[in-house]
Amino acid sequence: MAKAHDPLPAGVDPCDLPAHGHKALRLEEARARIVADITPIEERETVRIHDSLGRVLATAVHSGVDVPSHRNSAMDGYALAGEDLPRSGTATVEIAGTSWAGRPYDGVVRRGQCVRIMTGAMLPDGTDTVVMQEHVRLHDARVSIEPGHRVGQNVRPVGEDIRRGELALEAGTLLRPAQAGLLASLGIGEVTVLRRPRVAIFSTGDELRSIGDALGPGQIYDSNRYSLHGMLTRLQVEVLDLGVVKDTREDTLRAFQSAAERADAVVTSGGVSVGEADYVTETLERYGQVGFWKVAMKPGKPIAFGRFGKACFFGLPGNPVSVMVTFYQFVREALMVLQGRRDAGPVPTFKAKLAAPIRKAPGRTEFQRGILAQADDGGWTVRTTGDQGSGILSSMSQANCFIVLPTATGDVAAGELVDVQLLEGLI
Ligand code: AMP
Ligand code: MG
Repeated sequence: MAKAHDPLPAGVDPCDLPAHGHKALRLEEARARIVADITPIEERETVRIHDSLGRVLATAVHSGVDVPSHRNSAMDGYALAGEDLPRSGTATVEIAGTSWAGRPYDGVVRRGQCVRIMTGAMLPDGTDTVVMQEHVRLHDARVSIEPGHRVGQNVRPVGEDIRRGELALEAGTLLRPAQAGLLASLGIGEVTVLRRPRVAIFSTGDELRSIGDALGPGQIYDSNRYSLHGMLTRLQVEVLDLGVVKDTREDTLRAFQSAAERADAVVTSGGVSVGEADYVTETLERYGQVGFWKVAMKPGKPIAFGRFGKACFFGLPGNPVSVMVTFYQFVREALMVLQGRRDAGPVPTFKAKLAAPIRKAPGRTEFQRGILAQADDGGWTVRTTGDQGSGILSSMSQANCFIVLPTATGDVAAGELVDVQLLEGLI
């Protein structure tokens, strides 16, 4: 069943629309422009430490206490005065009692004496040194110690970890398990975090069907909303799924309006090329602002970035691989900035040795799906997943990294070092 799409007004050539004339931007420039355009969220809320994972601290946290609050032993052993350590010959000291973690020895340790001490237990008055239990010989109520020890060894001083008043975590810190533990060690049970960004997503395309529907001729299942939902959920933003939008001007505009009213950012897929049924860029151009929409990258060109109402808008391409590549190169960092994260930045790259040659024409940055594996010599080698078509979503599913081939790069020979971006932990 053919469906008529409303054409552009008479006399308007799609190529004359301002955005269509934009020259392709270099990837780095596109990234920088996006980041410069995003303002971090300022609204705050209070959450319990248990609910703080993936949240971003709104204010710096200073410690109200010394951690640890008492001098304690780093080992199971015997605590004594450093003066009692032998310089030569064997010293024998008498065991006066035991100091347990949480149950200190409350007597005074005199010269010539020691206490049995457990890891984390308070050092009794009169002691400043711990000798590991493996380094002494025990005879009934005495231990003998050989030379070779250092005064003050195996003792954790007060405030060794963090001192009272010291900066523990900076504003903008992403709270991970380590930070949750650190806050708990300071006795802090609740923190002020920034509100999570709300991100609306929708797919565009008359050919798209939802899971559970039968596919008619020429129809496919909408996969982009699911990969987008997954990537956004991993980033710890709130996702508003607005479903599939038909390829008409009216439906597209209505979807834009409803998304921008409810969300800080809108991420769509499809409808950003110059096909007859591509209304996303046009709608952004007419009713919002377009930042740019062509980037010299493969896959991924074209993508639309701009604003619609108060929301920032990312019109990603329709091809499923392009959606994921552009998300990781642009949307991820932009949302990190929106989240107020001080660690916002591009996906880190590192070098790996190419296992088999790759053909590439210079002129744009390419992101090939790669499989990174450890070689027998302990180094890392990478190969592509095979066919790199932007509709081959199974390549993303097999990959554990992107192989990033910079703009100027041509063919790359086996054995050369290439940049890779790990997907583990991201996807
Ligand atoms: P478009 O950019 O709208 O021309 O779409 C480019 C290609 O991506 C076409 O083959 C579409 O059928 C496909 N595509 C677009 N949106 C989706 C989607 N949500 N899920 C899967 N494939 C899609
Ligand atoms: Mg389409």
